[in-house]
Formats: sequence, C-alpha cells, structure tokens
Amino acid sequence: MRAGGSDPIREAARLLAGRRNAVALTGAGISVESGIPSFRGAQGMWAKYDPMEYATLHAFMRNPRKVWEMLSEMVSVCGFAAPNAAHKGLAALEERGVVRAVITQNVDGLHQAAGSRRVIEYHGNLDELLCVYCWKRYPTRLRWTPGTVPLCDCGEILKPNVVLFGEPIPWLAQEQAEEEARTCGVLVVIGTSAQVSPACDIPRIAKESGAAVVEINPEETSLSGHVTDIHLRGSASEVLQRMLGALST
Ligand code: NAD
Ligand code: ZN
Repeated sequence: MRAGGSDPIREAARLLAGRRNAVALTGAGISVESGIPSFRGAQGMWAKYDPMEYATLHAFMRNPRKVWEMLSEMVSVCGFAAPNAAHKGLAALEERGVVRAVITQNVDGLHQAAGSRRVIEYHGNLDELLCVYCWKRYPTRLRWTPGTVPLCDCGEILKPNVVLFGEPIPWLAQEQAEEEARTCGVLVVIGTSAQVSPACDIPRIAKESGAAVVEINPEETSLSGHVTDIHLRGSASEVLQRMLGALST
C-alpha cells in the first residue's frame, strides 16, 4: 500500500475512473473463491503434484496417463466451478467502460462465464482437447468423462489445449496481451504470484510503457514494492466489490 494516508481503494478507483483504459491481468488467485485451488501455497496443487512430473510437455509426452491424474482433477473442479464476485466485478467494470480487456493466465473459463467479453486466454482453456499427433481438436465435454483418459480418433491420448511448462504461449494471445500492456493506462494485477514466465513480464511491460500498476492480492508478490504502485491487500472479491462501490460514489 502506498503511503499518504488516503484510502488506497478510493485512490485506485480514482485512477481507474480518470484514465478509463484499464486492463486486468488475472491469475489462479481470482478463482480460489470459486473453489479452484491455486498452484502455490499449502492448499495449492503443487503440494500434491510435482509440477516437473505433472505439468510439463515433456512429462505429458512421456506418460500422458499419469499427467491425466492431475488434469482429471483440474477438469472436474473447473467444470463444477461458478464465477465469483471478483469475476463478476471485472465484467461489471468492462460494462461500465472502465476495464477494456482481461488477460488471464487461468484456464477455467470463469471470466467469460461472468460476462467479460474481451478475454485474452494466455494459457489456453480446459474446454478443448487437442491431439498433438494429428492436431484434431474436440470439445472436452464430448470426449472426457471422470475416470477416463480421452482418446483421439487416431488412437492417441488427447491433451487439453492449455499451455504446459515447456510449451510456447499461443502467438495471438501473446501479441494481444503485449499490445494491451503497452497501451493501457492502468494494469490491475489480480491473484497472481507473478512467477510464471513470460506472463510475469506483462506488468513490467505496462509499467515501462507508462501505466500505473494496481495489485490486488492478500500477499506480497515479486511485483509488490517496485512494479506495483498501489497494493490492495485482500481477497479479489472483497476488494473488487469495494472498488465498484467507490466508483459509484
Ligand atoms: P499462483 O498459484 O502462483 O499464485 C496465486 C496468487 O493468488 C498468490 O499470489 C496468492 O497470494 C493469490 N491469492 C490467493 N487467494 C486469493 C484471493 N482470494 N484473492 C486474490 N488473490 C489471491 O497462481 P498464478 O500466478 O496464476 O500461476 C499459476 C499458473 O497456473 C497460472 O499460469 C495458471 O495458468 C495456472 N492455474 C490456473 C488455475 C485456474 O484456471 N483457475 C488454477 C491453478 C493454476
Ligand atoms: Zn489424433
């Protein structure tokens, strides 16, 4: 939080209202209140699954059935999840013309479910399965049921169309995200530890291009204190609800 005595949420709301060209960058933390665990921390997925064994392209190519143990859990949990007040708050900010785009590292589709229209999916989406041998694509719900491993018509095991470690970012998402970062007036970074590269470069690109960076996270991150201008400590839903309230007054 910045020194100066004023309420940081009001200060952030003033910034958003004044510049009206904000972009949000979201991570796993925004979906925690929808019941989807983040990756890091005691309750995170990495406490259960070693990312080197379960979340790299190399691991998938070597043993896709094993990687599907983790993927099955993710697909099931995300399939039952509904958007929370933070996802809805961002959609409301877009509706009001305050936020113009959401760049998300999440693969759960909850921004679209909440009504956000311009969503750049930096790491893909679990809704689609892809064959890395013949490149055929399928909607996940048509090919996967709990306890099974989804197969392509060619016989190979399908991979969700999400970015595993060791895979490049989809080029269009990368281009659009960098363009948004270069041209926004405010970047609102919500629920990301900013440790996954190259997504963690987005706040730096925005900052170097002249944007103010507002961070919403109950914890300190690698951005707090130097890239972040205003750190709003708290859960994404609580802070965004208060921000919407401040924008209405
Ligand atoms: P991360 O797990 O590294 O960090 C989560 C961050 O969220 C932490 O800084 C934590 O302090 C914060 N947080 C926790 N609860 C919060 C809350 N209620 N409100 C606001 N912030 C909260 O997540 P990451 O930086 O997004 O990196 C993990 C990668 O894994 C991402 O690239 C993402 O693609 C993927 N992932 C996606 C999902 C999903 O789609 N929901 C879930 C887990 C992981
Ligand atoms: Zn195939």
